[in-house]
Amino acid sequence: MARVAFIGLGNMGGGMAANLAKKGHDVRAFDLSADALTRAEAAGCLPAESGQAAVEGAEAVITMLPAGSHVEAVYDDLVGRVAATAILIDCSTIDVDTVKRVAERARERGLQAVDAPVSGGIAAANAGTLTFMVGGSDEAFERAESYLADMGKAVIHAGGNGAGQAAKICNNMLLGAEMVATCEAFLLAQKLGLDPQRFYDIASVSSGQSWSMTSYCPVPGVGPETPADRGYQGGFAAALMLKDLRLAMEAAKSAGADTPMGARAAELYERYVEAGEGGSDFSGIIRMLGR
Ligand code: NAD
Repeated sequence: MARVAFIGLGNMGGGMAANLAKKGHDVRAFDLSADALTRAEAAGCLPAESGQAAVEGAEAVITMLPAGSHVEAVYDDLVGRVAATAILIDCSTIDVDTVKRVAERARERGLQAVDAPVSGGIAAANAGTLTFMVGGSDEAFERAESYLADMGKAVIHAGGNGAGQAAKICNNMLLGAEMVATCEAFLLAQKLGLDPQRFYDIASVSSGQSWSMTSYCPVPGVGPETPADRGYQGGFAAALMLKDLRLAMEAAKSAGADTPMGARAAELYERYVEAGEGGSDFSGIIRMLGR
């Protein structure tokens, strides 16, 4: 078992750090929030006084922070303190350009870094069933893999630095557009006099089938239990979907890719979040589309 520094103990990082401690790692945890630190201590981590204290002697440094600016600031503060043998693992969802920049700066200091964003929400972070999509060299991936496996059910090497984030935002752009299309199909079916359950029975075994339909149906009472059955509470917050769609649009612009469906999904989620629904589940957009 290893000494691991964990920085960013929020909704996701709290559960992830707890799972590392449960697996027997010596977890030195840091967050700007005193409450988050107290929760981490109760979960078996050792709270550190600062990020710099947390990384002292660590074999792996894991970050789970809100956005690229936070990751860049934390890395700038810490890389000088990290042992040359340590592996840097950033699990936050951030922009591809920042990932490449921080990985390059780490490399200049002789450190290896991977981007390892996750699929799965707070429940999966707590249960240790996240999927990690990892960007970095073969050697860096091999060094990061066992730590990630202790927090998840799947660890997939996507390619070089930035490839993990690329996979994450392309996946979530697809999910956002697919959810909007699934909501539209249910709403049109209903207007055409079709019972939603009948439409589900047909489309879920036909070519319109998708994860948004069969695993996350936006219509209450149809398909497996989903946030739709709980008033669109819990699940994946619309504000986070909007964040990921914005990252995808930014990446598409910088790569010169044409993504009209992703752009439309981003506009619709922007409207949904502006209407005060940022905290509700992203499938709740069906209520706005049906108005
Ligand atoms: P969060 O806001 O709950 O947690 C972030 C934590 O980082 C906070 O506790 C904050 O105090 C801490 N922090 C910020 N700056 C810091 C600094 N300089 N030093 C130390 N701590 C600092 O966010 P979250 O929901 O845990 O999400 C974290 C990341 O995971 C985000 O990039 C998000 O997009 C991604 N993500 C979230 C979900 C989800 O369902 N919540 C799912 C997949 C991916």
